[in-house]
Amino acid sequence: MPVTPKDAAAVILLKNPADPLVFWVQRNPKLAFMGGFHAFPGGQVDKADPSVPVLNAADEENATMRACAARELFEETGVLLAKNASAPPPAASVSSNRPSRERLEARRRALANDEVSFNSILEEHGLQIDANSMIAAGRWVTPPFAPRRFDTWFFLAWLPEGQEPTIESGELIHGEWIRPADALERWMREPVILAPPTLYIIRTLAATSPDLDESARALVAIPESKRGIVRRIESRPGIFFFPVKTPTLPPATHTNCYLVGGEEMIVIDPASPYEEEQQELDRFIDGLMTEGRRIREIFLTHHHPDHIGGANHLSQRLNVPVAAHPLTASRVSHVVRIDRTVQDRELIELKGDPGWRLRALYTPGHTRGHLCFYDEVSGSVMTGDLVVGLGTVVIDPPEGNMRQYFDSLKRLLAFERLTALFPAHGPAIGSARFKIEEYIAHRTMREERILEAVRSGTGLPHEIVPLAYTDVAPAMYGLAERSTVAHLEKLEEDGRIERFDGGYRVSSES
Ligand SMILES: [Zn+2]
Repeated sequence: MPVTPKDAAAVILLKNPADPLVFWVQRNPKLAFMGGFHAFPGGQVDKADPSVPVLNAADEENATMRACAARELFEETGVLLAKNASAPPPAASVSSNRPSRERLEARRRALANDEVSFNSILEEHGLQIDANSMIAAGRWVTPPFAPRRFDTWFFLAWLPEGQEPTIESGELIHGEWIRPADALERWMREPVILAPPTLYIIRTLAATSPDLDESARALVAIPESKRGIVRRIESRPGIFFFPVKTPTLPPATHTNCYLVGGEEMIVIDPASPYEEEQQELDRFIDGLMTEGRRIREIFLTHHHPDHIGGANHLSQRLNVPVAAHPLTASRVSHVVRIDRTVQDRELIELKGDPGWRLRALYTPGHTRGHLCFYDEVSGSVMTGDLVVGLGTVVIDPPEGNMRQYFDSLKRLLAFERLTALFPAHGPAIGSARFKIEEYIAHRTMREERILEAVRSGTGLPHEIVPLAYTDVAPAMYGLAERSTVAHLEKLEEDGRIERFDGGYRVSSES
């Protein structure tokens, strides 16, 4: 079951009405939700938000969401959207009760450390949030494939006079003012990763006049901004992400089908065997084709049923060939017609702007015939099941091989240009290098604990699991045992352990 979205709010902060600039921030790559993405300041509703009085709010919900947006903006940028909260006067004019910049910064830190409530900061200074200064600009719900979901209210607001946002390291690593049109250009040319609302909002701001009410009307006219289902997900230019329901392993419920390119496109993993989901994908592809695009070929990352279920249908419908690694082709020949095989390092060039040069990478470990697709232009990787956005990758021998898995991960790390990972399950990963290093570190830690267990005289996989997987629920021990076998095989190949009495012991040479 998809998780229930939590209430959240974000502020689209603007300044300079003659030629508006919008304030966008980059999220910390280490964050589990949208790590490394560019976005707008915001966050989840706090239990104290409903108690913050808000002037001119239509109802309690509108008041609470604005209180949340104003609090998050203050915490993340120091900007206080409240009446009488504009520029502090020069220090000499002590008669004013307006908060000084230093005082506000101190209160901001106290708020971040939970030492004071937002409401008491407002009360101290006789300030109030005014709903009229935060114009509702739509509600966006994270699609159901994601492990964390938010129902986010967006608000447009002008930067109050005399204030300037500042970013303190933490959830955000960077923030800047940018013309919306320049933001789009940055997204096209640089490793900027955007979630759908951010992209739609920036596009709309770039196309509308500087009038906030007009922008707000355009923003709430976007069908997806009414808590609709977001199906067009283009986090990087020309890399469309289309999650479909599949018979996959929990916690995943969906497999991401990718459509990559411009006028010419390829499809990676048309995954769903379910007719309804195939029709959804058909409709989405029809929509892309009405933009003058054409599908050239279908690629499969590997043979697992939650990746190939829609390949025959789509191939027949579009009359395009299906391609896979030879070791995948031989595994699926009875269910999918494979028209040609793909070798390691094959280059797939796709025309359009900014252009795509996908390198097929043979990356076994999860399966023997696994492929990733690395875009040399943007440094993005469609990772299949090598790296996933939720849950863990199953390495189940003899199909799975832990040594190959490590090597495949390291192969990705060797690319100097490595920006975003687009996994077959879960959301895009905006911190590619960090994520892969985390994967390697985690598996290395596990291997050490397994070796430790063997050293202590425990030689059988099912006995090793409770010792090496103390952080894992016993319900997962079955999968953990398969991984343990894979680690043991690698340790044996590495010469660190040897087979003994039906199990393993530490190698006599080591
Ligand atoms: Zn798989």
